[in-house]
Amino acid sequence: MKEEILRAVRFIVENGLVKGTWGNVSIRDKDYVYITPSGIPYDKLKEEMISVVDFNGRLIDGLKPSSELPTHLEIYKNRKDVNAIVHTHPVFSTTVSVVSSEIPPLIEDAVMILGPEIKVSEYALPGSIELAKNVVDALSDNNAVILKNHGLITVGFDIDEALTASLVCEKTAEIYLYTLNIGNFSTISYEDAVILRNKYLNGYRQIKKDIG
Ligand code: 13P
Ligand code: ZN
Repeated sequence: MKEEILRAVRFIVENGLVKGTWGNVSIRDKDYVYITPSGIPYDKLKEEMISVVDFNGRLIDGLKPSSELPTHLEIYKNRKDVNAIVHTHPVFSTTVSVVSSEIPPLIEDAVMILGPEIKVSEYALPGSIELAKNVVDALSDNNAVILKNHGLITVGFDIDEALTASLVCEKTAEIYLYTLNIGNFSTISYEDAVILRNKYLNGYRQIKKDIG
């Protein structure tokens, strides 16, 4: 699990999804959550620093956990299908968070992996229980939620799905901002978006099906 966290951290840094120490990553393993420690520069992060907590937030191993632990725990408690969470502060998704309340069904891959729409959660202070509740509400059954005036959270059945969702959401946010600038744009109908989403959940993820 700790190696998986380090791999995920390298991925978000290499893809420019975070700057400085912001952002955090976690993986659920049965009764425990492995999560990046708070405020540690990613290039200094070592396996033994990674925090291991139980579902009461009690620290079992490692350094002080991410300040966004309440949001990670709240998502795991509400979404039994989620085993990994990636929180980043990427440019385009964060821009959407300050100008819009959702990204409509725009492109096929986003609708499939993220959900019919990507909602922007109500603002609350980072690390607060209020933010955790707002995020769970806006995430609903989707795999991405944009945090107002803050950043992005994506979730997945495993860490690879959560990481891919972050890249797809950031790409979609970039496209959405271009379309807003150009003017009129077309969307996928909500009905077709639901068909695409169900296709992804019920058959497209062949590897998940095999190991699930
Ligand atoms: P941590 O360094 O505590 O994980 O916080 C970073 C962050 O992005 C807060 O929203
Ligand atoms: Zn943050």
